[in-house]
Amino acid sequence: MRLTAPKAVSGLYPTVQQEVARLAAQVQVRSACEWFGLQETRFAAWQLEVARIASPPFGETTRAAWLVERFREIGLSHVHTDEVGNVLGVHPAEGERCISLSAHIDTVFPLTTPLNVRQQGSKLYGPGVSDNGAGIVALLAIANAVQSLGIAQGLPFVFIGNVGEEGEGDLRGMRHVFATPRWSDRIAYSIVVDGAGCETIVAEALGSRRFEVIMRGPGGHSWSDFGTPNPIIVLARAIEEFSQTPVPASPKTTFNVGVIRGGTSVNSIPESASMRVDLRSTSASEIDRLERLLRAALDRAIAWENRTLAANAPRRIQQVRYELVEIGNRPAGELVPDARILKVIRAVDAHLGNTAQVQRASTDANIPLSLGREAVAIGGGGTGGGAHTLQEWFDCNGRDLGLKRILLTMLALAGTGE
Ligand SMILES: [Zn+2]
Repeated sequence: MRLTAPKAVSGLYPTVQQEVARLAAQVQVRSACEWFGLQETRFAAWQLEVARIASPPFGETTRAAWLVERFREIGLSHVHTDEVGNVLGVHPAEGERCISLSAHIDTVFPLTTPLNVRQQGSKLYGPGVSDNGAGIVALLAIANAVQSLGIAQGLPFVFIGNVGEEGEGDLRGMRHVFATPRWSDRIAYSIVVDGAGCETIVAEALGSRRFEVIMRGPGGHSWSDFGTPNPIIVLARAIEEFSQTPVPASPKTTFNVGVIRGGTSVNSIPESASMRVDLRSTSASEIDRLERLLRAALDRAIAWENRTLAANAPRRIQQVRYELVEIGNRPAGELVPDARILKVIRAVDAHLGNTAQVQRASTDANIPLSLGREAVAIGGGGTGGGAHTLQEWFDCNGRDLGLKRILLTMLALAGTGE
């Protein structure tokens, strides 16, 4: 069996479309695709099992241990858990570079959430069953197919069950993978499986930066200390100014003040007030601009207050000040228009008769995309709904289409043995 590198393959087969058709016609690939349809009972069992293991952000250890066992059963090489808790396993091949298939293993649900996970016919119910039970099962199904069906490919595949995608996890799992030279120097293409479906290709990374702003002053009695700067009022002034900031429609850019807190009683001048601010854009420079304007609005509100204070009570030295703490940072980025990964997945969709839209979202793919790497986030097939609620569900019908789509994409990216 001869292995050909991807470049040689695309030279032999003039279009990506022809290459996908050639791959799909190979005996081992055809049997893998049939195998996906026959294994649904096993896939659903894995999915129910994994959804029954709580996996809140920063609490993914038990689920990671479960995944290590599955990776070992499947026979992947170099199965291990890294420093932050990501689970990795390799399907080897000769190439230097590799292709990663990853799925986040954390959920949004706190440890105490009742996990009433159950199956009714083709439908699975329970928190996290689709996001990201569907992604984890796709990882296992693809790993199992390539390991057991003797498909030879030109580049190794690295399978990653990563921690920390949701909320305060802030993409820490993927960030760690791409900060580790062993992987970041080698991963040529990243495919992220997040949730259900086949109808989207996330090729643009929606960036976000989140802050907690804490405004502090001396505090005091509302009557006897009147004139002392009031952090709530200063914060309100900053919000008023910042909320006038113009934002472009393209690249789409938004901001939000989502939480505001402060004060103790109606007759006290508060000692502190705080807000949480969310800045989003597909453009990293727009996020930088919003951050600068937020800081400028805060500085101006404080300067105004302190000036007024100095004029009215020159001997008072107690002033108001703020602290700005970054509580989240998801980098923005997008694929270059002629990215190979997008051509390949579009060709695979055309081959499978699948219609998919290119979208922007915030996923684990933000990390490789922000580094200028080729990456997409797609679904694991089937259908799902109610993500991030206790009513979450997944319908296994059509899972095999999602799995074929992932397998063909990976093989076409890697090049196969003749
Ligand atoms: Zn997810």
